Amino acid sequence: MGERDALAFSRDEMRRFGYEVIDRLIDYYDERANRPVVGELDHEALEAILHEPLPKEGLPWREVLEQFERQVVAPTNHVDHPRFFAYIPLANNFAGVMADALAAGYNIFNAVWLQGAGAAQVERLTVDWLRQIFGLPESAGGSFLSGGSVANLTGLAVARQVRLAGEMTGAIAYCSDQSHFAISRGMRLLGFAPGQLRVIPSDERFRLSLADLRAAIRSDRAAGRRPFCVIATAGTTNTGAIDPLAELADLCLEEKLWLHVDGAYGAPAMLCERGKQALRGLERVDSLALDAHKWLFQPIECGVLLVRERRWLAETFKEQGEYLKDIEQTGEEINFMYQGLQLTRQFRALKLWMTFKVFGLDAISQAIQAGFENAELAEALLRDAGCWEIVTSAQMAIVTFRYRPADGDEALANQVTHDLVGALLEDGYAFASGTQLREKTVLRMCCNNPRTTPEDLKETIAVMGQLAAKLEDIY
Ligand SMILES: *Cc1c(COP(=O)(O)O)cnc(C)c1O
Repeated sequence: MGERDALAFSRDEMRRFGYEVIDRLIDYYDERANRPVVGELDHEALEAILHEPLPKEGLPWREVLEQFERQVVAPTNHVDHPRFFAYIPLANNFAGVMADALAAGYNIFNAVWLQGAGAAQVERLTVDWLRQIFGLPESAGGSFLSGGSVANLTGLAVARQVRLAGEMTGAIAYCSDQSHFAISRGMRLLGFAPGQLRVIPSDERFRLSLADLRAAIRSDRAAGRRPFCVIATAGTTNTGAIDPLAELADLCLEEKLWLHVDGAYGAPAMLCERGKQALRGLERVDSLALDAHKWLFQPIECGVLLVRERRWLAETFKEQGEYLKDIEQTGEEINFMYQGLQLTRQFRALKLWMTFKVFGLDAISQAIQAGFENAELAEALLRDAGCWEIVTSAQMAIVTFRYRPADGDEALANQVTHDLVGALLEDGYAFASGTQLREKTVLRMCCNNPRTTPEDLKETIAVMGQLAAKLEDIY
């Protein structure tokens, strides 16, 4: 290697490196279902990672790959495993993985139309496909972002700009007690005081209570404050609950409030009939955040924000950098650096575009529908097992439940259910996570991975029953 290209590989070496990476991924995908879900935590080995000195000399890439497998892959819990039911499983797909490789490989700069006109058009088209899926008007626009947290933050930044134009005094936004922490964190980062986000109680089905919302708006107006935004959730992370979108849209129209919907988890359900029914009213949003790395099967970092009027994005994010003056177009071209906070930005739309094109809508719709069916099957199996209380029925591919001890003791039910998460981690065969629903400690199974089989569900529920019975015996 000459001095001038100290970082280059030969064609042969690149091929070997690249094929080795692909072969490893293919082995992983092939064997994934037979591996434990949970990685091996060796605390000493993890601590040792931190003490490695800066490398002066390079190592053969093969050794570095081996180290990566040992140090990074081995302790990883596989969020794309068919028996990972915790939080929101992230079941990616191979077309998306290849698209990410291509976007990185060609290092496509997707910020300025002139520097990547094809990429800008593909992102615009993919945003438009989503616009059509969600029934938004042709004037709508959007952009790809890292994930749901940033998509929500960006949506709220647009709401603040368009509705408040910088005057935040007394402005109030509303969300339910089931909304994701990304909402309160986003509001705080945007400079709102804690009291400017009113957390409205949820009803018995964990949906934002309309009556309480109306009352809160009335009392805020009476006190001279300025309600400006309602933040609804379409598919809460806890239970999959969907706030009453159509009624909220009516209320927002009546009260002249912005309607932002956090559909990070649930919005993609729009692509199947069940979801479409459940999400009625979603087409009336002003802004919608969604995560294509959750229920649209993309590799991690594929968030999207859609807004009802595309011009709102430029109104919020356009600045004029001196050194970027010459890229201004006069036409309709979109410079994505003005549609959000990032200037230099990845070409994230490519993975969703490629997935839509390679598989087609019918296959994607089936994969989403499988989540509804798997959660319903899980609920049926839990009911049959006789030792579980269903706390919230399967909805949007999530079911929540609690262990039912023989003597019906409430504290014991919570304790066993709580400790079951740790027992599952130790066992490693499958993983589900817990949450708190009012006075009940529950387990959740989120079943949005289309590769989960009925056998996976049966075995997982059998294992959970055995582990819970053991825990009950200990107390
Ligand atoms: C996951 C999630 C978020 C946060 O999205 P990230 O991609 O993890 O940043 C926000 N809201 C809801 C409802 C979610 O499920």
